[in-house]
Amino acid sequence: MSDELIQSVRESLQQIPDPETGRPLSKQIKSVEVDGDTIKADVGITTFALPIKSHFQQQVTDHLTSAFADHKIAVDITDYQRAAMPLGQVGLKAKAVIAVAAGKGGVGKSTAAVSLAMGLKKAGCSVGLLDADVYGPSLPHLTGTRGQVTKEGNKIIPLQSAGIPVMSIGFMIPPGEAVIWRGPMLHSAVTTFVRDTDWGELDYLIIDMPPGTGDIALSLSQLLPLTGAVIVCTPQEVALIDAIKAVGMFRKVKIPVLGLIENMSSFLCPDNGKSYDIFGKGGAKEYASQDKIPFLGEIPINIQLRERGDAGKMSDNFEDAEIAPYLEKIAFELTKCLAEKFAKEPVQAQLPVL
Ligand code: ADP
Repeated sequence: MSDELIQSVRESLQQIPDPETGRPLSKQIKSVEVDGDTIKADVGITTFALPIKSHFQQQVTDHLTSAFADHKIAVDITDYQRAAMPLGQVGLKAKAVIAVAAGKGGVGKSTAAVSLAMGLKKAGCSVGLLDADVYGPSLPHLTGTRGQVTKEGNKIIPLQSAGIPVMSIGFMIPPGEAVIWRGPMLHSAVTTFVRDTDWGELDYLIIDMPPGTGDIALSLSQLLPLTGAVIVCTPQEVALIDAIKAVGMFRKVKIPVLGLIENMSSFLCPDNGKSYDIFGKGGAKEYASQDKIPFLGEIPINIQLRERGDAGKMSDNFEDAEIAPYLEKIAFELTKCLAEKFAKEPVQAQLPVL
């Protein structure tokens, strides 16, 4: 009886898609045991899905509870390893490549990109951060990684911030120097970033895109399959109009729009505890729901967040009980949205290149 039950639990677990690939869990079902009236299952997930570990545990528990209602359910979620395969012609090893973009400058796109990367890193993912904002590279400033990159063999070694490899055009040009970019130069800079940089093996490569223009997005999408774009905007109507244009631009070049982040959502005054909606309220959320774009979360206006950005100490935001939950939620929502997307269109298994 118990063997049959174990077999049917295993079959039932196969209906749950792996959050990283959308494929059946298969080898990730490490063990299933029946102990009295309790079904115990040990299911593995990769570091890619760690931001949604508790959510996934609940999902598996709910699934088994409804399938085996006369048993108690105990689910353990443990580590499972799956290597990242080389992407596109450039051979970058990353499981997801996410472009963080905005319709215009100054909405906090770079702040959101760094926060997203650090939120994923804090949850246990392997993350890289690429500054493709060639017109105004601000990642060296925000991540406190000033200096020049070095080369080992024919690969550029990125600088490190809070355990995240960071690459920026800012490391290759003297600070304060203006560069005039032409199409072919842009393409070759982007190629250097993704092909000639030693990123190691990544779960996520987060790319801080230049505002507005589609040039870099096109160059990138010729080099590797972009998983999708995350658009950052403020609640202000003019910012929203630009964000809608950015969404249109990505759709035109067939890059999926994964979600919207609203920055500078409200200001909680430390003097009187009141919340002020300096740039208005709710517009971005409403637009996201109208256009069926997942809303990944909001970041309030926060003085410490700006100060830590200026000091290159953005990782300290995750120790701040007031701001950390907003940033952690964005990493959680992104991974959750990706898991839902992959569940609908599973990622094809790739054969490793020998
Ligand atoms: P963008 O990349 O869109 O040009 P940045 O991320 O560089 O914008 O942000 C511009 C400035 O605004 C930076 O000084 C940053 O620290 C600050 N900033 C961004 N978001 C917030 C926020 N939620 N609260 C306070 N300051 C912020």
